[in-house]
Amino acid sequence: MSNPWENKAFYRCTVCNDIHFGVIPPELCPSCFQKDKYIRVSKKEAELIINGLTVK
Ligand SMILES: [Zn+2]
Repeated sequence: MSNPWENKAFYRCTVCNDIHFGVIPPELCPSCFQKDKYIRVSKKEAELIINGLTVK
C-alpha cells in the first residue's frame, strides 16, 4: 500500500514566498528566478502562506 503523497512535501521560496508542492524543490524559482532558494516547510506553514499570511 503506497501513498503517492508520502514522498511529497511543501517547499517555500525564501525570496518571494512562492509555494511548491512536490517530491523535490525546484532548482529555479518560477516567480523570482533565484536559484536554490527553496526550503522545506510544514503543510500548516504552507497553508498560512497560501492564505496570504506570510511567515517572515
Ligand atoms: Zn522565488
